[in-house]
Amino acid sequence: MSQERGGVDPLTADVTAFSEAVVRERRTLKRALTDARLVAGIGGAYADEILHAAGLSLVQLTTNLDTAELARLHEATQAVLAMWISRLRVEASGAFPAKVTAFHPGMAVHGKFRQPCLVCGTPVQRIVFATRETNDCPRCQTKGKVLADRALSRLLKKDWPRSIEELEGRFGAKPLRNQPEN
Ligand SMILES: [Zn+2]
Repeated sequence: MSQERGGVDPLTADVTAFSEAVVRERRTLKRALTDARLVAGIGGAYADEILHAAGLSLVQLTTNLDTAELARLHEATQAVLAMWISRLRVEASGAFPAKVTAFHPGMAVHGKFRQPCLVCGTPVQRIVFATRETNDCPRCQTKGKVLADRALSRLLKKDWPRSIEELEGRFGAKPLRNQPEN
């Protein structure tokens, strides 16, 4: 199942190949999904949407996922990508969509800071990096923890991370577990 170049194709990979790619490195889920060396072709906006659909936190570490969570992530990845490919093609009148990583008003959480989650109505939270924003629902994904505005800011104290890598470096020393052990 290994590939010499690039990551697995998320639309065709089975759950085994997909899971192997995702857990290959100790990363946050957001970073793993958007790393083309592990999983091909998923932009930040879609990663937010996939993690929301899977009910998983963007700062959950890949090495902490159990089999059921990986299966849920695989299913959500294929469902969300297939839905958006179809939707964007329709909106582009059959042409290949020009900006597949951009914000779309129909998204559930990406770009929806403070707006109600489409599933539970909780205001969507955000973590802002240098120029990018990543969004999730604190109720659907982080067991009610407000990572961006309270818990995360306490954890990080002085400033926001400037990159996902920096965020992971900090969590690497003391992993933030959002899920109970069982
Ligand atoms: Zn929600």
